[in-house]
Amino acid sequence: MRLVLVGPPGAGKGTQAQFIAEHLSVPKISTGDIFRANVSQGTPLGLQAKAYMDRGDLVPDGVTIEMVRDRLAQADATSGFLLDGFPRTTPQAQVLDDMLADAGVKLDVVLELVVENDEVIRRLSGRRTCRTCNHIWHVDFDPPADEGVCDLDGGALYQRDDDQAETIANRLEVYAKETAPLVNYYAERGLLIGLDATGPVDDVTQRAIDALRPLQHDF
Ligand code: AMP
Ligand code: ZN
Repeated sequence: MRLVLVGPPGAGKGTQAQFIAEHLSVPKISTGDIFRANVSQGTPLGLQAKAYMDRGDLVPDGVTIEMVRDRLAQADATSGFLLDGFPRTTPQAQVLDDMLADAGVKLDVVLELVVENDEVIRRLSGRRTCRTCNHIWHVDFDPPADEGVCDLDGGALYQRDDDQAETIANRLEVYAKETAPLVNYYAERGLLIGLDATGPVDDVTQRAIDALRPLQHDF
């Protein structure tokens, strides 16, 4: 199955992507994770992306698209994938359609995680990420047993630069302007499933799995 996950920052895309990809046995391809890995390794791509990310702006389409093109060409992505955080602009969506058409395949479904702005702000400002495994915790909604320490591997938790208050506001504006139009883009193509992304993480995952079940016997 070939899926895209869209939704505002803080909708829980990263967390849900992890569970849904596991459930479907497809690789999770998260452009944000790939960019962050490049930033922490100091690669040329990372150096290019960092300033945009720190401001909460989008990395330019050219850079992002080539990175995704390379990733989708890898063997594990040929029979399915879950894209988390891509596409985020209409040009990215158009290029993705073209890339898949060239490969003789197409997207099966786009899941939109629907959450209101206030909730998004609460979530993002309490979010903490593990330096070791990238698992996302939340100081109120999903705290680890020991503050600042990942339950999974003891890694130190940190607050992403782009989860600071000023940057959050900019990311929400960027989402409304650049990414929200994709909801219509995919709805017009009959691919969109909107999902209530509020409430406990497990409930949201279950809703996603239930929404995907009717599609699954096609695969
Ligand atoms: P995320 O972890 O998905 O919130 O992504 C973190 C940051 O990486 C974003 O705020 C952007 O700066 C950058 N980024 C991730 N995906 C994309 C994309 N598809 N297009 C442009 N920039 C992206
Ligand atoms: Zn961890």
